[in-house]
Amino acid sequence: MIPAAVPKTPEEIIRKELLALKAYHVPDAAGMVKLDAMENPYRLPLQLRGRLARLVEEADLNRYPDPGAAELKEQLRRAFGLPGGSELLLGNGSDELIQMLIMAVAKPGAVVLGVEPSFVMFRMIAVFAGVRYVGVELRDDFSLDLSRVLAAMEREHPAIIFIAYPNNPSGNLFDAALIERILSAAPGLVVVDEAYHAFAGKSFIPALARHPNLLVMRTLSKLGLAGLRLGALLGAGRWLEQLDKVRLPYNVNVLTQVVAREVLQHDDVLTEQAVAIKLERSRLLQGLRELPGVTAYPSDANFILFRINQAERVFEELKRRGVLIKSLHGSHHLLADCLRVTVGTPDENTAFLSSLTQALNA
Ligand code: PMP
Repeated sequence: MIPAAVPKTPEEIIRKELLALKAYHVPDAAGMVKLDAMENPYRLPLQLRGRLARLVEEADLNRYPDPGAAELKEQLRRAFGLPGGSELLLGNGSDELIQMLIMAVAKPGAVVLGVEPSFVMFRMIAVFAGVRYVGVELRDDFSLDLSRVLAAMEREHPAIIFIAYPNNPSGNLFDAALIERILSAAPGLVVVDEAYHAFAGKSFIPALARHPNLLVMRTLSKLGLAGLRLGALLGAGRWLEQLDKVRLPYNVNVLTQVVAREVLQHDDVLTEQAVAIKLERSRLLQGLRELPGVTAYPSDANFILFRINQAERVFEELKRRGVLIKSLHGSHHLLADCLRVTVGTPDENTAFLSSLTQALNA
C-alpha cells in the first residue's frame, strides 16, 4: 500500500519569487469618484449601446469565437493605419500580450529590460515567467537616460526591451530620437507600448517599416473599452507567428469581438471622447499647478502625475472625501510623494480639485 502523503503547504510548493510578491491590488471603488485606473469616464452613446445589445442578443455564445478574429483584425489594421508588410496579434488586453511576449523568450538566462519607473506589469510578468528583469532608471524629470539604457543593453543583451510611449506613471512621451537610437542598437525585440496613444498623437507605427525588430502595442482600454479587454501587437509576421504559438486558443471572446467590431465602425465617438479628455487634462493641470506646494508634471496621457507634501496623508484624505486616485509613494524612489490622477469628466475633475484643496487645508 502506498503510504498517505503529508500534504504540503503553499509555502513549500509555490515558487519563492511568487510567495514574495504582493498580488496586484485593485481597491474597492464602489460609490467613489473613480480616478485611479486611467479609464475613459464616458460611456458610449445610448443609440450605439442599443445596437450593441441587439448584437449581443444575436451572438452565438454556444460556439467558440473565431480563433483568428479575421474581420476584427482587418478593421484594426485600418484603424491603426498599419503599413503593408505588418501583421497583428490580438490579446485579452495588452497585459496578455506582454505575458505572451515574455513567455515566448523565457529561455534560461534570458533578460527583459524596462525603464523605471514604468508600467509595473513588465516586471511582474517577467517574475511570473521566471525571467530576469532589469530596470534602468529614468532621469529625475522622467526622461530617458540613453547612455544608461545603452550600457544596460550591452551588458545584459535583453531579449525584449519594453518602452511605454507615453510612459505610465509619469505621463510623458520620451524623445523619439532616443528611442530610435535604442532601436538601432537593440540585440532583440523592442516593444513600444502605445496604450495612451489616443491622448498623445505620436506613434512608432510608421517606424515598423524601418525596424524589423520593433513591435508596437495598442489597447482599446484607455479609449473607452477597458471592460472589453482587447489589445493588439503590431509588427513583422515572422515575430508574430512565433508569439502566436503561446496564445491560448480563443483568447478574444465572442462578445469582445462582436462589440469591438461594431464600436470600431463608429470610432469617431471614441476620438471625440479623447478630445474632450485632452481638454480636461489642460484644465486639471492648470488647477493642480495653482495649488500651493503641488508640482504637476506635463502629460501626454489621460492622467497627471503630481508631487505633494505628505502624499500618503493627502491620498487618504481624498479617499475619505470619496475621491479615489492612485498613490505611487513608496513604489520607486523617483516617485516619493507622488500621486497620479486620471482625467475624469469635468464634474469629477472639479470634485477632485476641490477635495484636494480641502485635503491640503485639513
Ligand atoms: N500598458 C500600459 C503602459 C498601461 O498603463 C496599461 C494599463 N494600465 C496597460 C498596458 C494594460 O492595458 P490593458 O487594459 O490593455 O491590459
